Amino acid sequence: MTTTEQLEIRAMAREFAEGEIRPSSAEWDARRELDDEIFGKVAELGFMGMLIPEEYQGLDLDPVTYAMALEELAWGDASVALTVAIQNGPVARAILRHGSEEQKERWLPKLASGDVLGAFALSEPDAGSDAAALETKAVREGGGWRLNGTKRWVTNGARAGLVLAFARTDQDASGADGIGAFLVESGSDGYRVGRRERTLGLRASETVEVHLEDLFVPDDGLLGDPARGFRYAMRSLVVGRVGIAAQALGIAQAAFEHATGYAVEREQFGTPIADFGAIREKLAGMASRISGARALTHDAARRISQEGPEGFPSPNALSAMAKLTASEAAMWVSDEAVQIYGGYGYMRDYPVEKLMRDAKGPEIYEGTNEIMRHVISREVLRDLAGTDG
Ligand SMILES: Cc1cc2nc3c(=O)[nH]c(=O)nc-3n(C[C@H](O)[C@H](O)[C@H](O)COP(=O)(O)OP(=O)(O)OC[C@H]3O[C@@H](n4cnc5c(N)ncnc54)[C@H](O)[C@@H]3O)c2cc1C
Repeated sequence: MTTTEQLEIRAMAREFAEGEIRPSSAEWDARRELDDEIFGKVAELGFMGMLIPEEYQGLDLDPVTYAMALEELAWGDASVALTVAIQNGPVARAILRHGSEEQKERWLPKLASGDVLGAFALSEPDAGSDAAALETKAVREGGGWRLNGTKRWVTNGARAGLVLAFARTDQDASGADGIGAFLVESGSDGYRVGRRERTLGLRASETVEVHLEDLFVPDDGLLGDPARGFRYAMRSLVVGRVGIAAQALGIAQAAFEHATGYAVEREQFGTPIADFGAIREKLAGMASRISGARALTHDAARRISQEGPEGFPSPNALSAMAKLTASEAAMWVSDEAVQIYGGYGYMRDYPVEKLMRDAKGPEIYEGTNEIMRHVISREVLRDLAGTDG
């Protein structure tokens, strides 16, 4: 059941998105950057630390409320929501679960207050879906580790103060073994920001290449066990994917609302186009797919915060299902919204083409949807058919 607190936080996020985010969204998209001030405003309301416990100055929201708030921010602008999702999800979550007390005290309050933006650097030019094939090396050197390698498509890689970067610590190991997770300060010698990508959508979000060149990370910058970093990454992506699902829902909801408003206003053949069965069928499909994806996303969010019997689907499979379903809903709904707008929908002057461009991102990052199907089907086969999966 939805609680009063959840409704209040959702309403606060919608009001903020309506007043402070949406009015600038098209301009940020055209300029290919977010205003610096928006990060401060987002942080002021506590959104940068929604999943961070109160003892580290976060809001300590339950994951369902987090998903609700994040959806509203994405309704305002998906690039803003992506920053918030990465901050709360893979970055803060990994530190919370696997960091030492000293690391938590050092970084979590700064992430919660927005004083520091976090980035997650796993992908490499030749290691995307097969991220465990990463080639960045971390070599032991008196009191720390020396990192060398290239990271690709790091969201906020230039703005971030803290980058959770993954590198192979055991050069004889392969696959998921022997990979460490490092808390890299972007001001360190050897942290070099490379090219800024020109993206289809989420244009205001900064996606950059990062070069780690003889970068030294002291021992207190290593998260947990030097051989288990890849597992930490995969675990924190369980929460991360719920965040991406919420982001996709915000895009879908925005496209749906625009399309509905337009269908009522636009007249052809002497009547609003909403009177045509073909348009009504689209609106019904959009509403149904969004509601279904939202229910699944909230179910996944609920499950990641509960300890309980594993069985199928596990929280891992559920968060993959949520990300898969919500991102496909966003892509389909935004495509239908463009269609409902007709020729105007194809024009930059109207909001739906941007939403369609933005919707493609969630189908790709934090694991492509093909990989989501792999994660889900592996569990189906293992738990329901008794194979190795
Ligand atoms: C806007 C944006 C922001 C991003 N931000 C970040 C970030 O902050 N940090 C970060 O680390 N990464 C980030 N990424 C990278 C993203 O996570 C990768 O692009 C993604 O994991 C896919 O990797 P790839 O692009 O190398 O595709 P590939 O792995 O080369 O895949 C190519 C195609 O093959 C398919 N494929 C691959 N393997 C299989 C398989 N086993 N079975 C079926 N199909 C398969 C894929 O699904 C895809 O369709 C970002 C990407 C984008 C677009």
